[in-house]
Amino acid sequence: MSGAVLVTGGAGYIGSHACKALAAAGYEPVTFDSLVTGWREAVKYGPLEEGDLRDRGRVLEVLQRHRPVAAMHFAALSNVGEASRDPGLYWDNNVIGTLRLVQAMAEAEVPHLVFSSTCATYGEQDGVMLDESCRQDPLNAYGASKRAAEDLIRNFAAAPDVALSHVFFRYFNVAGADPDAQIGEFHRPETHLIPLALDAVSGRRELLTINGQDYPTPDGTCVRDYVHVTDLVAAHVLGLEYLLRGGTSEVFNLGTGRGFSVREVVEAVARVTGLPIPAKDGPRRPGDCAALVSGSTRAGEVLGWTPEHSVLDEMIATAWAWHQRPGYAS
Ligand code: UDP
Repeated sequence: MSGAVLVTGGAGYIGSHACKALAAAGYEPVTFDSLVTGWREAVKYGPLEEGDLRDRGRVLEVLQRHRPVAAMHFAALSNVGEASRDPGLYWDNNVIGTLRLVQAMAEAEVPHLVFSSTCATYGEQDGVMLDESCRQDPLNAYGASKRAAEDLIRNFAAAPDVALSHVFFRYFNVAGADPDAQIGEFHRPETHLIPLALDAVSGRRELLTINGQDYPTPDGTCVRDYVHVTDLVAAHVLGLEYLLRGGTSEVFNLGTGRGFSVREVVEAVARVTGLPIPAKDGPRRPGDCAALVSGSTRAGEVLGWTPEHSVLDEMIATAWAWHQRPGYAS
């Protein structure tokens, strides 16, 4: 299959890896990005259209110019701490941005959408392994904004005059970098555990703070299910092709079913890099769930997805290679 695919947030961490995977599969990834949190240098595999998703006219113009067969929607703010401090920012960017995109897609008659959702939409569920049928009861404004975006996409897809099929991917914790180190994770400011731990081992930051030690988990620190970005974007190409073949709208968790605590991740970073991590214990971070682990195999059953690279040490090793490349963070 071929054709253009609109990739919102294609200049960001996950979006840029999706562009690489789409180009390798024969599609033309057209990045739509405001470059507020994305990076121009990460747009390497297709054209860049700069713009803000909340500008419906601009989105429509880009859709009419490139006539994509589908859209992949990554553009969003995704920092739990920031969302807890400033919920309006998250509702504005993530919900209104999605609304304007879907309205423009309806007008331009782009019939398929792959949407980047999150396990944060589930919230705290007393240690259960999460599958797609779990109730969605987010603990923070980030998860709430993604749940609202899912709802509005569903409403559009159900409207009689709109032809729209969609796949929602609810990600667990995305980690690692392109094995060729052409692209990788870089946020400013950085808030995610693995890049911060790598900053601490490389001396770019003085200390890593471990957020909370009294959670109801085996070692008291939060447990997360880490999935390699390469595996994650491979699922997106499978999801796209599923929709292009006429598949009905679906939702899939993307996780491995194996959780690691913050302390286990810190130990793995020390093991992979061979360097000590200066770390200290700190308070809980508002909005954090104790444990988020996928209990679903649906993406494997329906899409044939197998997470081949989502081994903790491999995720850290690829992220470390990216961190060490010349020019990182310059
Ligand atoms: N975390 C931490 N120290 C940090 C950054 C993150 O202890 O400097 C913890 C965070 O509180 C959470 C886990 O690491 O329990 C994963 O956080 P991250 O921000 O990477 O992903 P999230 O789970 O929020 O999507």
